Amino acid sequence: MFILPDLPYAKNAIEPVVSARTFEFHHGKHHKTYVDTLNKMLEEKGERPESLEAVVKAAGPGKLFNNAAQAWNHGFFWECMTPSPAAPAGDLAGAIEAFGGLEALKAKFVETGVGQFGSGWAWLVWQDGKLAVIPSHDAETPISDDKAFPLLVCDVWEHAYYLDHQNNRKGFLEAWFDKAANWAFAERQLAAAKGDGEGYRYPAPK
Ligand code: MN
Repeated sequence: MFILPDLPYAKNAIEPVVSARTFEFHHGKHHKTYVDTLNKMLEEKGERPESLEAVVKAAGPGKLFNNAAQAWNHGFFWECMTPSPAAPAGDLAGAIEAFGGLEALKAKFVETGVGQFGSGWAWLVWQDGKLAVIPSHDAETPISDDKAFPLLVCDVWEHAYYLDHQNNRKGFLEAWFDKAANWAFAERQLAAAKGDGEGYRYPAPK
């Protein structure tokens, strides 16, 4: 059985970018439902996987993939926010300079999230030895294959921002990038992408 991991901060800690009310629904209902549905499907199949990453990689398109990948993407997403954001540092700062600077990265990240038609995600990834920003649709996730290593993500499903920002996805993405993004987490992910450490893993099943 996979668990619903606790938020790594109080549910009002990311206000006003993400309100406690949004977390009540987004973490307490949406994420929980993905985890519950995944567990039910695994139980019905009699499967006891060793990790959520293994389920995501092995599942083909369909309901099992959608729920497993959404469970993983949300666990990762909670880590991508912090109540005390600090500027990118270390190797990450260098990679951002190579990208064209933090403002260029923000512009690309916001444009990617706004341009994702319908539901999905905006990802900062490490790919081919440099930073890239890529969208994904619905539950799609870079961990399905090993072409890109995820560093940071923002959820652009309407449930992520509608209570706080209504239909203003662009405003949500800009505020999220400036006031909530956890660059220290992205820096640890970058180290893992380069072989130093393991990177984020969803809590192992109990
Ligand atoms: Mn979501």
